[in-house]
This record gives sequence, C-alpha cells and structure tokens, in this order.
Amino acid sequence: MIEVADGSAIRSATSESESTSRSTTQIRDASPPVSRDDAAMESEPGTRATGGCDCGGVRYRITGELRPVVHCHCTPCRRITGHHMAATAAGVDDVHLLADATLTWYQRTPTTRYGFCSTCGATLFWSAADKVDTLSIAAGTLDQPTGLRTVLAIYADEAADYHRLDDALETHGGEQLLN
Ligand SMILES: [Zn+2]
Ligand SMILES: [Zn+2]
Repeated sequence: MIEVADGSAIRSATSESESTSRSTTQIRDASPPVSRDDAAMESEPGTRATGGCDCGGVRYRITGELRPVVHCHCTPCRRITGHHMAATAAGVDDVHLLADATLTWYQRTPTTRYGFCSTCGATLFWSAADKVDTLSIAAGTLDQPTGLRTVLAIYADEAADYHRLDDALETHGGEQLLN
C-alpha cells in the first residue's frame, strides 16, 4: 500500500530451490503453491491471527506481530479495493497460507503487486520488491476480533472526493513510513 518508485526486480516466484524446512506455503513461494497447512492448524499455538477471503479460497494464519493499521488512499489502492486500503502487515515468513487455490497476484508495477481472490474478488495482500520481508494484509480480511487499531492515513491527497478523512487520525499526503 505504500508506493515505491524504485527497487529491484520482484523476487522470483519459483520455489524449486525451497530452502525452508517448514511445510507451509509461504508468500515468497505463492505461485505455484508448494504445500499447505492443514486447516486444523488455524488454532495452533503461536497463531496471532487468522483470516481469509469471503469464499474461503484463500485462508491464512499469522504468527508473530501485526503492524497497526494504515489507511492508504492512493489511486491504485482506491481502485483495487473499491475505496481505500486499510492494511496491517506482518513478516512474510509469519504468513502461512492454509488455502490458496484462488490466490492470484496482480503485478501492478515492476516492483509492487496486489494479492486477491480470483473467485470472490477480495483484496488480500500487497507487497513491494524493496520490502520483501514484509507483507501488507488487507485488515478487513482478518477474522474478528483483530485487536488492532488504525494509526495513520497516507496518500490522503488522492482520497476520493466523497471520502471523509478522519481529523483525529495522523494524515499525510503521499507516503509516510511507520517506524
Ligand atoms: Zn496505496
Ligand atoms: Zn475468495
């Protein structure tokens, strides 16, 4: 959701040289899928959150920390989500796909891509080549309750004219990175 103007080529999606010993599908290897967690793993110890799309074609489990929610009002996020992106984020290795049959990546620029469900159309993920260790997750796809709060709005200058920005929220035009 945070746009970048530079960065190297997107990491290759091939997984032949899979180096991790984990059995779960990692986002790094999102296509083609390698293997999947059993659905029973959703309640495994260490799970911070679970989520998925509306039709169930994509389900995921998060271990580790989730970043507070950031609203991104940039034009691509507005068009792709239908309003604005409200995203948390996690370490890419902490995102475990439990189901990914319909997960599809829209490579919007050479360095940024959005993950969505090809069946129900849900916006799920966003990633950038210069931040390969982090995956943004559309917060609305998390199972409730999330325990998260919204802390920042970015690209407010590109927000839709009908949208009422929150005066109580730290708001920036353009990009503003969280610490
Ligand atoms: Zn955006
Ligand atoms: Zn779906």
